[in-house]
Amino acid sequence: EIKKSGKSDFGFYSKKLHEKLQEKLELEARLRTAIAANELILYYQPQMDAPSRTMTGVEALIRWNHPTKGILPPAVFLPIAEEAGLIYEIGTWVLREACRQMKSWHDNGGPLIPVAVNLSSQQFHQPQLVSYIRAILEETGLPPQYLELEITESMMVNAAVSVEILKDLNALGVRISLDDFGTGYSSLSYLKHFPIDKIKIDRSFVKDIAQNDNDKAIVATIITLAQHLNMLVIAEGIETKEQLDILMHNDCRDIQGYYFSHPLPAEELESHFFVPR
Ligand code: C2E
Ligand code: MG
Ligand code: MG
Ligand code: MG
Repeated sequence: EIKKSGKSDFGFYSKKLHEKLQEKLELEARLRTAIAANELILYYQPQMDAPSRTMTGVEALIRWNHPTKGILPPAVFLPIAEEAGLIYEIGTWVLREACRQMKSWHDNGGPLIPVAVNLSSQQFHQPQLVSYIRAILEETGLPPQYLELEITESMMVNAAVSVEILKDLNALGVRISLDDFGTGYSSLSYLKHFPIDKIKIDRSFVKDIAQNDNDKAIVATIITLAQHLNMLVIAEGIETKEQLDILMHNDCRDIQGYYFSHPLPAEELESHFFVPR
């Protein structure tokens, strides 16, 4: 009896596993052609100056408009892209498209704000990173101060190497922001040694801020720290008025989150957030 059911369980799980693997291989194969097929798109999420309700920047967030599955979020395909070595090609596409779009907005009466682009760890450690970012800026005509690169603490496994990369990027004139701040290791020593312009407070600290005094204390401390280090600070993942009020009460004006807007396709960002300048 037991043996039998064990065997059929195994059959069930191995079938599930097989299906999962099959699905992954299909996604990977399809992803290889996704760039050429124009299936990758960037959404843009506003970063708002909360007191004045003005947009001070946008973060570019990748989506895959899959022919049969619809719009897929990065969590579904970026890990596959990293494993399959496609992340370089995708990352370069993201940078070029974000810079092209922002330059086009600047040239056509849109707001003179920067675009933030997420770098993957592999991209960050690519030897040609600085030279190809320089090339993309020249090619698209976007002035470097309008490109912000989002990196995470977890990328900086080797501090000595990372600081060199960051110094080169800094010399190029682009802004560096530290994403998901507080979720990695050694944050404080990084902040001291690295040329970082902006800290993004991770959503995990903001989520329960209205109920949890510890989270509130952590967030207040990060804001003070940023101010003392002369860095910009933005809070991610603000969804409610209550969360917004606490952030503003703690002197954090820069806000990104569903409370103001979900990430939007370019045309929707234009129609909802662009004002004549
Ligand atoms: P991230 O850089 O921390 O981006 C913020 C994520 O939080 C986005 O998810 C955004 O849609 C979501 N978010 C924003 N406001 C709220 C909110 O109020 N509530 C909640 N629950 N979520 C909110 P998304 O677009 O699914 O991206 C997930 C992650 O994928 C990003 O986290 C980033 O690490 C990565 N990613 C996205 N686009 C790219 C890209 O072009 N290149 C690379 N390398 N990574 C990317
Ligand atoms: Mg980010
Ligand atoms: Mg983040
Ligand atoms: Mg993240």
